[in-house]
Amino acid sequence: SADAAGVAKKVILAEPRGFCAGVRRAITVVEEALRIHGPPVYVRKEIVHNHRVVAELSRRGVVFVDSEDEVPEGAVCIFSAHGVAPQVRRNAEARRLDVIDATCPLVTKVHQEARRFADAGRSIVLIGHREHEEVEGTYGEAPHEITIVEKAEDVARLELPGTAPLAFLTQTTLSVDETEDIVQALRRRYPSIVAPGTGDICYASQNRQDAVKAVAARSDLVLVVGSRNSSNSLRMVEVARSLGVPAYLVPEAEALDEGWLDGVRTVGVSSGASAPEVLVEELLGRLGRLGYLEIETARTAVEDVVFKPPAQLSAGRAARV
Ligand code: SF4
Repeated sequence: SADAAGVAKKVILAEPRGFCAGVRRAITVVEEALRIHGPPVYVRKEIVHNHRVVAELSRRGVVFVDSEDEVPEGAVCIFSAHGVAPQVRRNAEARRLDVIDATCPLVTKVHQEARRFADAGRSIVLIGHREHEEVEGTYGEAPHEITIVEKAEDVARLELPGTAPLAFLTQTTLSVDETEDIVQALRRRYPSIVAPGTGDICYASQNRQDAVKAVAARSDLVLVVGSRNSSNSLRMVEVARSLGVPAYLVPEAEALDEGWLDGVRTVGVSSGASAPEVLVEELLGRLGRLGYLEIETARTAVEDVVFKPPAQLSAGRAARV
């Protein structure tokens, strides 16, 4: 299709996009638990932050609950990809729940770092969004030692003395650039602050931000498919906007506002780590009906990360059950 000036309308599809290894693993865990135990299977919180994934699993007999207290004693309870505080594990144990842990191994790594720093007597600055489940879980590892910082301005307001032994950690799905600003502010105020062994922002968040940047540089508009509570999807929208390109989160194809397309020739499209590809296909379908028929893929990295499912879901457990 072409606009009045005869210029073709097109879509540039970012790659990598969509499901990361942690999300694939978490969804596999729920599917395997359903297969082995049959419904109902209880999942504490959304297994991953995507409404379509949650709706589909609910249809198949998964019951999503906010707290382990809502799970009947002895029933299967899956912890979501975002991880849980130790208190939640203790509570689940006390209630004799059959826990299957779908926490992403990269989130578990941040929990281990929190314990290691706290055990070494360090106070910890946790960079992340206070209300996010992952941050709640990490915070729970050492609530007396951890202070949460959401933005660079918060650093000046910290009450930690300059002489305190300090370390910082970050949520896995933050903006790489914004986090760097916060870390610089921390290093200025606390020159001896210790960094985590390897960066905490996960490979998937980093790759999706890099890919969306590359696409934004060539687009008039960027659309990121993802749910409103998906941290990594929201960061992708921000990253595109930081390059001066209008960008919107599109949870479903119907959320696309045709007004955004006024004068737009090239639409960049990507999706967050928890968004299934079918949602991208539905958006491309709608864009196609609006004249955006040409689709080019712009790849900035190749991902081959796979996380093994928890040992409990191996054949051994299936035989035991
Ligand atoms: Fe794990 Fe990163 Fe995926 Fe979160 S976004 S589940 S940390 S790989």
